[in-house]
Amino acid sequence: MKEVAIIGAGVSGLSAAFELSRQGIQSVVFEKSRGLSGRAATRRRGQICMDHGANFFRTTDPEVAHLIHETLPSVDLVEIKGDVWTFDQDSVISPGDPEQNKQPKYTYRQGISNLGKLLQAASGTDVQRQQRVKRLIDKEQKWELENEVGDSLGQFDAVIVTAPAPQAAQIIVDSILQNNIRDSLIQALQQARYDPQFAFVIGFTDELRLQKRFHALVNQDGQHPVSWISFEDDKPGHVPNGNTVLVIQMSPSWSSRHLEHNPEHLLPQVLEQLSCLIPEIDQAPDWWDSQRWLLAAPRSAVDTTNLQQAESCGIFFAGDGLVGRGRVPLAIKSGLATAKKLAAGK
Ligand SMILES: Cc1cc2nc3c(=O)[nH]c(=O)nc-3n(C[C@H](O)[C@H](O)[C@H](O)COP(=O)(O)OP(=O)(O)OC[C@H]3O[C@@H](n4cnc5c(N)ncnc54)[C@H](O)[C@@H]3O)c2cc1C
Repeated sequence: MKEVAIIGAGVSGLSAAFELSRQGIQSVVFEKSRGLSGRAATRRRGQICMDHGANFFRTTDPEVAHLIHETLPSVDLVEIKGDVWTFDQDSVISPGDPEQNKQPKYTYRQGISNLGKLLQAASGTDVQRQQRVKRLIDKEQKWELENEVGDSLGQFDAVIVTAPAPQAAQIIVDSILQNNIRDSLIQALQQARYDPQFAFVIGFTDELRLQKRFHALVNQDGQHPVSWISFEDDKPGHVPNGNTVLVIQMSPSWSSRHLEHNPEHLLPQVLEQLSCLIPEIDQAPDWWDSQRWLLAAPRSAVDTTNLQQAESCGIFFAGDGLVGRGRVPLAIKSGLATAKKLAAGK
């Protein structure tokens, strides 16, 4: 029986671990941060919880639907009220795509990061947190993983790398493996481009008198400084009555220009843009928070032909970088597919 190391406890890595355990293959997940679920992230502030990365996921894909509704516990799965409307560069708002809006949108009562926790619990996989994998070392038939201070994290029969492609590329750059495979992996992974996104969360401790007609607004032409605005209040369990919490994701181009700036100095600009889109919000928030997502979503897919060459020697990849779109269901499918491929060759 193989033992597999998985780098990254985002939804792709944890889906891979889940599928491997279903197939009787043991795995260990190494995660550089303290939490599970990666960019499907939730932050807490007292009784409030806010999804400041991925806002929701859909279960239109049958494999994902089966996993979410049938396999994993669904007692805390909640449907989000309200539609997603659109806006253009002039802040003109329109009702969104009626077909898309018919599809339910989901998160969890405790926040979207609960998905990672449920995946981990379902497989019982050992997740070693705050363990950044620095490099892989070829030990003939085995792969040794090493952390940043040069400690060995163990030897494994195969490795699944699920870090976003630029971070995966850095792991391979630092690794010791056959030159031809190393070079083609680096070339493929370094081609990947991810957009950054600056996220702001603002909260009001009194009830805002809004005539709310939507859950969220998304910019359709990509020409507005704001990409996305949504109300956490529409998610059951996220915001206590009498409060209002908004998530505002700034556009990739605005975010690139302001990545190095102090968020406190950026807040007035963000609020000004918000009031163009929702003029009823004309008061300063009672509290706010922010997050810089340096690698928010891939702009295009990595060329997987080059990645596949490494599979014969036990290095596999998964994650949204292989799909070319930042979507939770696609990351789940990528993790499941990679684990199935690895298991088929066992
Ligand atoms: C602002 C924002 C909004 C989004 N909105 C939506 C949305 O509404 N709906 C939707 O479906 N999707 C959305 N997405 C995209 C979605 O979150 C991602 O596509 C998905 O979560 C990617 O999962 P993943 O497992 O591929 O990667 P990740 O979640 O990035 O997981 C990779 C993990 O690897 C870890 N890691 C990296 N390097 C190392 C290392 N060297 N050693 C150990 N661990 C390492 C990271 O810490 C991370 O936890 C959004 C993303 C962002 C950032």
